[in-house]
Amino acid sequence: MNLDFTPEDEAFRAEVAGWLAANLVGEFEQLKFRGGPGDEDAFPEERKAWERRLGEAGWIGLGWPEAHGGRNLPLVRQMIFNEEYARAGGPGRAGHIGETLVAPTLIALGTDAQKTRFLPDIRSGTEYWCQGYSEPNAGSDLANVATKARLEGGKWVLNGQKVWTSLAHEADWAFVIARSEPGSVGREGLVYLLVPMDQPGVTVRPIVQMTGSSEFNEVYFDEAVTDAENIVGAPGDGWKVAMATLSFERGASTLGQQMQFRNELAMIIDVANRNGAGRNPAIRQRIAKAWAQLAIMRMNALRTLGDSTATTLGREGYISKIYWATWHRNLGELAMDVLGEDAERWEADPVTSRLQKLFLFSRADTIYAGTNQIQRNIIAERALGMPREAREKTSG
Ligand SMILES: Cc1cc2nc3c(=O)[nH]c(=O)nc-3n(C[C@H](O)[C@H](O)[C@H](O)COP(=O)(O)OP(=O)(O)OC[C@H]3O[C@@H](n4cnc5c(N)ncnc54)[C@H](O)[C@@H]3O)c2cc1C
Repeated sequence: MNLDFTPEDEAFRAEVAGWLAANLVGEFEQLKFRGGPGDEDAFPEERKAWERRLGEAGWIGLGWPEAHGGRNLPLVRQMIFNEEYARAGGPGRAGHIGETLVAPTLIALGTDAQKTRFLPDIRSGTEYWCQGYSEPNAGSDLANVATKARLEGGKWVLNGQKVWTSLAHEADWAFVIARSEPGSVGREGLVYLLVPMDQPGVTVRPIVQMTGSSEFNEVYFDEAVTDAENIVGAPGDGWKVAMATLSFERGASTLGQQMQFRNELAMIIDVANRNGAGRNPAIRQRIAKAWAQLAIMRMNALRTLGDSTATTLGREGYISKIYWATWHRNLGELAMDVLGEDAERWEADPVTSRLQKLFLFSRADTIYAGTNQIQRNIIAERALGMPREAREKTSG
């Protein structure tokens, strides 16, 4: 296990930090520490302008092959970028769904025409994506997808409903799983389609969350269309492609997030020192525990990077989602206990309201990108090789 960075890695870290210090200024200064989960409605247009700035400077697609406009950087460098980005207060990435989910899927399984059409606009921060998987009756049991797609006159025509679709209101395109084989059930008969959002057949309805913001949506397809060639894989391959996309969700972007978590923990410690909560031994113990677990999270991230040339994660990566999600949810509870009665006041100062949002939004951390229960199944089956969970056959 190698926990050291090479001098070249450190030089790269200095380059990233220097670029961020020089560019997160002027019109972008206000974006510092804004956006991201719980705060996605902050400065949407300005954050897209920031994405374009990142794209111009070559900071999007760090891990993609050079042939596709990326920089082919190993995971360790991608982690360093994400760490420095969070340390500098870089805003929540408006283009992360395109960069970390769609692009790797197209690079692995897309046609040359799809790569040529979509990758450059993701890399330049000019086109935005959302993920159309979940439906009212298909969440953990994703194979229960009921949205229908039929091929007609050179177009795929879609009818059905998606739900919890993050950033659909900001997206130009959606990647959607739908059922193209009438009568098929479960993982059979599915297609993975790339669907333009700006058309009469697509309706996006915001869902208001506990935070008061609307980061995700209901998306309705009513005779929505997309060109016949906007299918990834063949008809019937939808499940396989959808799972390939999910495997990229554990990618390098989460490896650098301990730095953002460190910022939040530092904010909590600061409040505890100011309001006296830090004198409470039980609170002190929880803060110390959170700090130690965060150190472990980073060690585990570095351990997964043992091979500094690796561009995909090994099996150690399987524990990272459940670990960070549970840690972060607990951090939200700690923040409320440190705030004490101030936690109850809504129109409070910026630090209090940030910690309130942290508490409210972190309740979702153990749900999205696979719930904790589903993560345990994945660890058991894929990382430990235990027998598969018995599942009922789902109906289409
Ligand atoms: C903030 C947020 C953003 C999201 N963004 C998107 C998005 O952009 N696109 C998208 O498609 N979806 C998105 N989702 C949806 C998310 O993927 C689903 O919420 C998630 O898959 C769980 O599905 P569900 O909500 O239907 O819950 P269910 O699957 O109904 O689960 C309910 C409970 O049952 C448990 N459970 C279910 N199956 C099992 C099992 N086999 N074994 C043990 N326990 C089980 C679950 O762990 C959970 O506790 C988002 C969700 C959130 C919270």
